[in-house]
Amino acid sequence: MGFATKAIHAGQEPDPSTGAVSVPIYQTSTYVQEALGRHKGFEYARTQNPTRLALERNLAALEGGYAAHCFASGMAAIDTILKLLKAGDHVIVSENTYGGTYRLFESVLKNFGLDFSYVDTTEAANVERAWNEKTQMVFIETPTNPIMAIADLEGIGTLTRKRGKRLVVDNTFMSPYFLRPIEYGAEIVVHSTTKYLNGHSDSVGGVVVTIKPEDAEQIGFLQNAVGAILSPFDAFLVLRGIKTLAVRMRQHDENGRRVAAFLAEHPKVVKVYYPGLPQHPQHERAKRLMSGHGGMIAFETGTLAAARAVLDNVRLCALAESLGGVETLISHPATMTHASIPADQRARLGITDGLVRISVGIEDVDDIIADLDAALQKA
Ligand SMILES: *Cc1c(COP(=O)(O)O)cnc(C)c1O
Repeated sequence: MGFATKAIHAGQEPDPSTGAVSVPIYQTSTYVQEALGRHKGFEYARTQNPTRLALERNLAALEGGYAAHCFASGMAAIDTILKLLKAGDHVIVSENTYGGTYRLFESVLKNFGLDFSYVDTTEAANVERAWNEKTQMVFIETPTNPIMAIADLEGIGTLTRKRGKRLVVDNTFMSPYFLRPIEYGAEIVVHSTTKYLNGHSDSVGGVVVTIKPEDAEQIGFLQNAVGAILSPFDAFLVLRGIKTLAVRMRQHDENGRRVAAFLAEHPKVVKVYYPGLPQHPQHERAKRLMSGHGGMIAFETGTLAAARAVLDNVRLCALAESLGGVETLISHPATMTHASIPADQRARLGITDGLVRISVGIEDVDDIIADLDAALQKA
């Protein structure tokens, strides 16, 4: 079955009691039991909900996993994965990870005895160098946010398999349409469903996809024990969003390529970060690992004043955090998404004051380009 067919059908059957084609929103907290100990597999809605279950089965199929568990946010999903570990364990992390992930690791989980090393995951050798006898997990985000570096998934996947430790990949930026990290050795895939999977900027959620039954069982245990579940309504929205994931991603990709090419030629733009451009340092790797490059682009304007001029003068592009929706969003990583990262570390990672990030939407691309062009004239 092809990806688009799976996106529309996997995990979903017409409702047996009514024939409803769409999975209903099962807005219930509990389920009546026929007799003591006899029920239909649903007892209490933190533990199981049919709308959430349909989404979980759908996402497991799209990533090629064994099971999926949905959470109230991407951060709740990531937090749950780290709860597979225990105090004293060491985790190797992509140095340029999502700001909220860095904050969770450094300001919350460190206090519970977990230890983190941040390395450039474009080279597997850096992961190998950071490895110690306490290392239990490698946590990669690829492409990195916002400068779009592509991790050496093949090399790192080989390393973690050889050492029998978990490789976790945050696949939010590519979606399973362009990249399925399990094919390269990931044991766990995590998404903020808030972004491309839902795709319409109207829901916050997260998912953990596992390949091992014992990991699936433990994540399910934690989902129920800790309780940061996705609501039935949000599960419905994400299921609905995923039905168009394939067509949306194709358009994000087509528009992304056009906008990146436009920016790369623009005299006011110093540098463009987009894996689809031949000058991107991991362009060949991106082509090998992924079937497209998507809609995420960062570009360097040179100064805070120039970045501000662009952000203040766009009309169609919305100045906002987040990404992956049908509408084009534009943001300033240094003061918005990455403000929680210390300034010296931001500078080292290339997150300068002049850097602007765009999540290219699926509007008519000529309108997006005209808007950026007009704003860049003011820079
Ligand atoms: C947004 C995002 C998260 C966090 O997800 P929330 O749904 O906002 O909690 C994690 N990783 C990446 C790459 C993201 O873009």
